[in-house]
Amino acid sequence: TTAQIGVTGLAVMGRNLARNFARNGYTVALHNRTVSKTRELVENFGDEGDFIAAETAKEFVAALERPRRLVIMVKAGDPTDAVIEEFAPLLEPGDMIIDGGNAHFADTRRREKALREQGIHFVGMGVSGGEEGALHGPSIMPGGPKESYDSLGPMLEKISAKAADGAPCVTHIGPDGAGHFVKMVHNGIEYADMQLIGEAYQLLRDVAGYSPAQIADVFRTWNTGRLDSYLIEITAEVLAHVDAATGKPFVDVVVDQAEQKGTGRWTVQIALDLGVPVSGIAEAVFARSLSGHAGLRAASQGLAGPKPTPLSEAEAAAFADRVEQALYASKIVSYTQGFHEIQAGSDEYGWDVDLGAVSSIWRGGCIIRAAFLDRIRAAYDARADLPSLLSDETFAREIAGAQDDWREVVIAATREGVAVPGFSAALAYYDALRAERLPAALTQGQRDFFGAHTYRRVDREGAFHTLWGGDRSEVTA
Ligand code: NDP
Repeated sequence: TTAQIGVTGLAVMGRNLARNFARNGYTVALHNRTVSKTRELVENFGDEGDFIAAETAKEFVAALERPRRLVIMVKAGDPTDAVIEEFAPLLEPGDMIIDGGNAHFADTRRREKALREQGIHFVGMGVSGGEEGALHGPSIMPGGPKESYDSLGPMLEKISAKAADGAPCVTHIGPDGAGHFVKMVHNGIEYADMQLIGEAYQLLRDVAGYSPAQIADVFRTWNTGRLDSYLIEITAEVLAHVDAATGKPFVDVVVDQAEQKGTGRWTVQIALDLGVPVSGIAEAVFARSLSGHAGLRAASQGLAGPKPTPLSEAEAAAFADRVEQALYASKIVSYTQGFHEIQAGSDEYGWDVDLGAVSSIWRGGCIIRAAFLDRIRAAYDARADLPSLLSDETFAREIAGAQDDWREVVIAATREGVAVPGFSAALAYYDALRAERLPAALTQGQRDFFGAHTYRRVDREGAFHTLWGGDRSEVTA
């Protein structure tokens, strides 16, 4: 027998992806550097479907039907290159290597180019949804050559998550690194979503004076409305959880230093390179890094802050409603920024990414799955070349309805001394974008003054310079 697909790298992600393929009726070849993991998989889950366990790279490649489809699910970075180097010489033109790890899209572009020269199709494939997603249906973001999707796509559509309307959460994102780029921005948006939820929690705790259990109930209520999403749902679960050892709310016994693995940071680094303002995502990454600076935080204890204003029960409830508005409006801004980055990447690298399709495949399987994504899908359906999510009529109307409360929440946070970098960065982005005039004109004047960098005028074409050190007359540059 031959396998329709093979998976090498059988840690939690690869193992679950392999089982998912097998459960969907495909014969799956298995390989792992450490052979015992391959055996364990067959021993524990062999009855779930048809597996062919291979001990060597040669056996693994021989077990695959042609053209071969070989999924790599190993640690991103050097291990991925090592595995590619091991397998590429054993493959033939037309075969396919699919990297499902969290690779940097620039690495994917490099690998795709090198393998293309050998006639091998290289598919950089973003996979979201963690280990549960990999097993029961992830959101999948494959890049690489379009023709590879013709043979790989139907298999991915089978194993992927399905949105509420039944649509598979996978689409061909675009050539070379497009899939990993979109996965990267997905993770950046995930950071921003989590930060905004964290700020909402802190405001309900410090300004409204709610307990974690009460806040869990607030989040449960929000989860029945327009904020309905996986992250809001699990937030309620985490907040309601009580530590067995101490009887305290779980959230109070966890060290408040957030960790990160890098995709959020990449999203911001690449945004800087592309010149895309993703302030909400950047604030989320910085907030995690600030939380980790234990020494700096310890040294700052005792710095002056405002006196808290206690709220009545009715005031607290009204404030909680306002926080929902602020959270929703800020979320619209995060997605606006993330989709802008995808558009900019697509333009820069000629990927022709369909933003509506991206929002569509994030509706199921992945961490940021949410009812909200249906609305983004609708926005791009209404207008495929939407310049920004904020220019969609529905979103603009919703923000118009939320903005008073959004401002009040940022004011209250400022007054009470609660840091809300996500909410306030989102609001600043919104206000700057809608401003008729920005102080950038003054910036240009300063630049011309100290560096003769020239400026453009509102009333005439061309570049100009003022003779600041002389008679201050204007010359054409
Ligand atoms: P790990 O990232 O922990 O990687 C472990 C696997 O990599 C093992 O199979 C290991 O083999 C193999 N490996 C490491 N170095 C080498 C090498 N030099 N040569 C050959 N094989 C090597 O596993 P995960 O399952 O957590 O993740 C796999 C990929 O999926 C990663 O790129 C990760 O970023 C990505 N990902 C993970 C998610 C998650 O929730 N965990 C979600 C989405 C993507 P051995 O057993 O021999 O050590």
